[in-house]
Amino acid sequence: MATLLQCTPLHHSISLIPILNLSLLLSSSFLLLLAISLPSTIRFSEGTSFLHSEILKDEAVARLNELGKVSDAQEFLARTFQSPASVRAGNLIRLWMEDAGLQTWVDQMGNVHGRYEGLNPSEKALLIGSHLDTVIDAGIFDGALGIVTALSALKVLNISGMLGKLRRPVEVIAFSDEEGVRFQSTFLGSAAIAGVLPVSTLHVHDKSGVTVQGALRENSIEITEENLLQLKYDPESVWGYVEVHIEQGPVLETVGLPLGLVKGIAGQTRLRVTVKGSQGHAGTVPMTMRQDPMAAAAELIVLLESLCKQPEDYLSYDGQCTASTVQSLAGSLVCTVGEISTWPSASNVIPGQVTFTVDVRAMDDLGREAIIYELSNRMYRICDKRSVLCLIERKHDANAVVCNPGLSSQLKSATYAALKRISGEDLDDVPILMSGAGHDAMAMSHLTKVAMLFVRCRGGVSHSPAEHVSDNDVWAAGMALLAFLETLA
Ligand SMILES: [Zn+2]
Repeated sequence: MATLLQCTPLHHSISLIPILNLSLLLSSSFLLLLAISLPSTIRFSEGTSFLHSEILKDEAVARLNELGKVSDAQEFLARTFQSPASVRAGNLIRLWMEDAGLQTWVDQMGNVHGRYEGLNPSEKALLIGSHLDTVIDAGIFDGALGIVTALSALKVLNISGMLGKLRRPVEVIAFSDEEGVRFQSTFLGSAAIAGVLPVSTLHVHDKSGVTVQGALRENSIEITEENLLQLKYDPESVWGYVEVHIEQGPVLETVGLPLGLVKGIAGQTRLRVTVKGSQGHAGTVPMTMRQDPMAAAAELIVLLESLCKQPEDYLSYDGQCTASTVQSLAGSLVCTVGEISTWPSASNVIPGQVTFTVDVRAMDDLGREAIIYELSNRMYRICDKRSVLCLIERKHDANAVVCNPGLSSQLKSATYAALKRISGEDLDDVPILMSGAGHDAMAMSHLTKVAMLFVRCRGGVSHSPAEHVSDNDVWAAGMALLAFLETLA
């Protein structure tokens, strides 16, 4: 854990360069560099065989639709870790891996692997991946898009005879769990490969009492704590990790482009705040004598919003808070109270206790620490003033991940080339985004350098059946991966 900063409240405001408008700030990804001129739309060429639209577009879209029907529920899409539908989805993906000419296997965390050794099997491997699990009532693109586009690109290389010319091994991994729906523990698959999954995770249980180990055993996969440690890849055997994912925000749609590079993934802190007051009758306790935790919680939540909207008004950039920290916060900080509960919850009772969650995300880890420090101090002061007790518990921390500049630049060049190939137009540049949502690349960054490509999705909507990526954008993503893989031949 990073050390706490001694950022003091400011009595004057600092003028900062406005980076983003508010609607972009509220999305899960946002544009870092707007100083580029971009066409409002891209036209896609039709037909010509070197564009491989029958594989990168038609077949990829058909596969996404097919995978989208593999669900544990009749009425909606849901695939959780090691559920029957997850296993069926893994089998389907394995067939597609074989169709692309890859050697396949399933590891002891249920990850599905497809690998081609290339000309030099002892060279460091490129890993490409995303997750095969989904949230409940999911869309068909989150996770699946990264797997399907990678396999399409490799299939094109196989058919054109290029696969055998790759100078290093390439491996596609469909991770068994990223969403964490069943065990409330994200990245089960990728964290195991990266060697950062605690062995105690095997004994975490779901709502019906089945452990991670038990869920794997139900599918005839035996895993012990020792096996889990052996799943970690040797960092010396890996060259880098690339992931294609839907943007889950509206920026690419706003700028009219199908693809954007990811600069980094925001760090995150989750808090649980409990406010205890004095329970009483709604009609008989005079207003002056109340210790109402609900009113206190409301003030705390408004404080959180103000602090995160205008961090520069609350933090100074003297001492350990540098100007760049404060500026980075102004461009990337987002805070949310997503869950609140009261006890007892009744219309004629002043509650005795209110509990709510706080989710804070930012690209700058020290800045996020400064915000948590400042927020906690101010919250305790408000609780003192209102004569209620406050308990702030830190439930989860994940540091921000910065994508590797070299690998990102290679992926960016490939993306540029791919967009030019399918549109016939010259772009000025490819946009650079930041991810507010976590991805498998976060776990994989503990193993190797990572780069990510975001794909435009309609309205920025994800984790919903309304999630949508156009057929042409699926094509563009596959073409970008193909162009990237071609540089390895
Ligand atoms: Zn995802």
